[in-house]
Amino acid sequence: MAFLNVEKINFAYPKSGLTVLDGISFSANELEFVSIIGPSGCGKSTLLRIMAGLIKADSGSVVLAGKKINGPSSSISFVFQDFALLPWLSNLENVKIGLASKPMTEDEREKTALEMLYKLELKGFEDAYPNLLSGGMKQRVGLARALVSNPILLLMDEPFSSLDELTANSLRKTVVEVLKDKKTLPKAIVMVSHNIEEAVEMSDKIVVLSNKPAVVKKVLEVRIKRPRDRGSREFRKKVNEIYSIFAE
Ligand code: ADP
Ligand code: MG
Repeated sequence: MAFLNVEKINFAYPKSGLTVLDGISFSANELEFVSIIGPSGCGKSTLLRIMAGLIKADSGSVVLAGKKINGPSSSISFVFQDFALLPWLSNLENVKIGLASKPMTEDEREKTALEMLYKLELKGFEDAYPNLLSGGMKQRVGLARALVSNPILLLMDEPFSSLDELTANSLRKTVVEVLKDKKTLPKAIVMVSHNIEEAVEMSDKIVVLSNKPAVVKKVLEVRIKRPRDRGSREFRKKVNEIYSIFAE
């Protein structure tokens, strides 16, 4: 059995009754970075929320490290497209929220949160409030909050799509750097994206979903050596392969 197994997930929102997810299955091995891509409205965020235990599937299961996910868990962290920071708390306090369920002294909590803020290049901004930060810096706080608890599974819902392309690019590089560090590395990472190039740049595996109701159109491995050059022939080839899957 793989480290993360998503098995035949079916889901419809109760009020509409329309099927959103139709038998979604895929798996991830330990240390794999998986992207889920698909058209807007196809059910990507819904699938990620099911994986986080925030909503319950109508049938099917998500099994992480041999354990079925039945509800929110402190070993799973989430990064939101719109950051979801609490504006009345300082950046440091926002990161400390990620440690809320950990048995730590206040000093330990503070030290751990500070270290993670520094890793995400936010030194000097710990006492500022999120609303004073640029979008890219807000998402750095969001990432720090998600990673500070050493999650087994990191789920990211379009983490770069609220950012301009230059900011997104630099943050993607930071994320890749931070994830290299064995100390912070989650055992599996699943990112939702609607950006094919971003998915090819970052992932080991890409799950391509169809329009709603979403089915898995294809699962592709990306074996291009890192750091990946978006202009290289093999990169373009992979991007084109995915475009043609969407066009099918
Ligand atoms: P994506 O993230 O791929 O854009 P979503 O998972 O957000 O798609 O939504 C999938 C479908 O479910 C959409 O058609 C959307 O309108 C519908 N939907 C999303 N959230 C809800 C909700 N809370 N109640 C009812 N329908 C919803
Ligand atoms: Mg979404």
